[in-house]
Amino acid sequence: MYNALFQPLRIGPKLLKNRLFAASHGVGFGYRDPDAMLAIRKMKAEGGWAAVATEQTEIHPTSDLSPYSGLRAWDADDLPVISAVSKAIQGGGAPSAIELCHSGLNVSNLGTREVPIGPTALPTQQYLPAIPEPFYAREMSLADIEAFRQWHIAATKLSIKAGYDIVLVFAMGTLSLLHQFLNPRLNRRRDKYGGSLENRARLLIEVLDDTRAVLGKSAALGVRLSVADLLGDPKGPPEALYQLLNGKADFWDLSFFRGGVLASGSGRSDFDGDAYLHSLEAAREVFETPLTTTRFFDTPDAMNAAVKSGLIDFVTVARQSISDPFFPQKLAAGELEAIRPCIKCNICVSGDLSYVPVSCTQNPAFGEEWRRGWHPEIPKISKRRKRVMVIGAGSAGLEASLRLSERGHKVTLLEQNKTVGGRVNFIAQLPGLDRWHQVVDYRLKRLLCQSEVALKTDQLVTLDWVINQAQGYDHIALATGAKWRLDVVDRTTTRPLATDGSLPIYPPTKAINLSSGKTLIFDLEHYQIASQLALLRQAAGDLVTLATPCAEIAPWTHKTMEQQSVQAKLLRAGIQIVPHVNLSRLTRGEAELRCVFTDRAKRASYDRVILVGLRQPSNMKYALEKTRSLNGQWTAIGEADVPGTVGQSVRSGFKFALEFEEAVATEVKRTRPLVGKTQRE
Ligand code: SF4
Repeated sequence: MYNALFQPLRIGPKLLKNRLFAASHGVGFGYRDPDAMLAIRKMKAEGGWAAVATEQTEIHPTSDLSPYSGLRAWDADDLPVISAVSKAIQGGGAPSAIELCHSGLNVSNLGTREVPIGPTALPTQQYLPAIPEPFYAREMSLADIEAFRQWHIAATKLSIKAGYDIVLVFAMGTLSLLHQFLNPRLNRRRDKYGGSLENRARLLIEVLDDTRAVLGKSAALGVRLSVADLLGDPKGPPEALYQLLNGKADFWDLSFFRGGVLASGSGRSDFDGDAYLHSLEAAREVFETPLTTTRFFDTPDAMNAAVKSGLIDFVTVARQSISDPFFPQKLAAGELEAIRPCIKCNICVSGDLSYVPVSCTQNPAFGEEWRRGWHPEIPKISKRRKRVMVIGAGSAGLEASLRLSERGHKVTLLEQNKTVGGRVNFIAQLPGLDRWHQVVDYRLKRLLCQSEVALKTDQLVTLDWVINQAQGYDHIALATGAKWRLDVVDRTTTRPLATDGSLPIYPPTKAINLSSGKTLIFDLEHYQIASQLALLRQAAGDLVTLATPCAEIAPWTHKTMEQQSVQAKLLRAGIQIVPHVNLSRLTRGEAELRCVFTDRAKRASYDRVILVGLRQPSNMKYALEKTRSLNGQWTAIGEADVPGTVGQSVRSGFKFALEFEEAVATEVKRTRPLVGKTQRE
């Protein structure tokens, strides 16, 4: 069915067994915690990917990505770690690819304190969400450029010594010095490396020639190249660049991120379709070696169609290889329902941008392969078979039921609503978030295949009923979720909301089907609910004002690389955004918003208020806590334990099921640092 994806492909001296390439991406462990990182790469290799790439690998201390933790190939001290990664990938059954990178203007070298360098003297642009930096890069002299070429050669030699099959030269977006030289906005030089396209491409071509000379036939040479900033460049459109570069590499991974920034290429469900394919046509006309593009493909059908069309030779994906490292294996076996689809939530990206290990909403085992010994596919069969009642079929309850049954337990899953899904049913109704429902769909399909799970919906669950039923079970997992609070209490805003009842207050879940009116939405969640509700309500005919104590709406979405697109959508929709205010009073049909700095108040009349406030566990948890007869016989999971993201609920269900009836909780291993020694000693 997916024949195009399972044809072998030659790239230079290497043969790929299929057309599914696991792209380079950060995982947050990097050189600081390499055991956890290389276990991730190994598992992908075991999952059947044609090749597995490392994250960005810094080639020199002048390209220090701190506080991010990627890989390093500065010198021989880094050899043990990068060798171990290569061996792990190859041990898993796939060729290993290393991505060599110098980030030029994109790094401030906060860790090494080296002077940043770039094609032109400009402020550095390290991607720290919403925090511009007062640091500059020095314009590289010709001696600097020569030194850079030597660093790249040295890192390439190190990669060969480490055993890599594929070396990727990174020229993608503003993240890369090589792209910065290509980009006329960032390269204002007047020497032989600036001005015309030929001059701006000179350094990339020199580096490719240098790399080829080192690699010979020992490894394939690939280039990750962003050309978006050249679209419309009168001095050199991408077609002219393709002519200059043709023949210089064994394959090309082209990206078309707008503005050359990663954020524009890693959007959520509302990403702009398949328009990118047309941009590849010009490249296909010129390049004689294989071509790919790193992007999100909605379905395996879309991947297959892209390769079958001949426009690209293989697909390069990151997020689908995180949500399901065994995607190729399952696809090859036709086990489509076993594939955990990526929902484009970018929670993985939020880990990277928080400088911590990356987690995944759909794959709770991601990042835990080595440090906790978790496996996303192979259940640890329980020695004793138990009967477990799971109350609540939201993301935590579904995940717990699935994993408990895989371990051999007998599960009764109860849901008081007519449909399963819990809060995901609400989230998936918001604009651009429909893909979130796959969290439920995937688990439900899998559960219905399990003979040891009895699912009952529309089941009224009261405290008395639970106490009566409990004797038939060994344990109860309480997954009844959380509810929205209707006050404005959070960590910073503790003043109670004064209200005379003249303005109705709605929680988000009751706000979807209201008749139209003048609506104030006040946001204390700072993630995605308020902004997406605002778009939904404005489209339904409301006149929406969106107020927040913060400087901009949905500030946490900087972590998921969505804030700019979210705010742009709100402004384009005509939604009024009021920053830096607290909601203090609702009286006489008016809402009072107070400035968080000056405490000055402004009042305006509305038809209603939608409060996107805090969440708190459902009442059942507090009722059970008071019930001594069930002591030790129940566990709260997901939001019934503590409110959080959907990914945290899935993880909670997974962890509960894995640790159920085990004597000790899974330990968290760490790579021990070498004290007083270098890696070479
Ligand atoms: Fe996909 Fe979300 Fe998992 Fe990232 S966290 S891989 S976007 S499901």
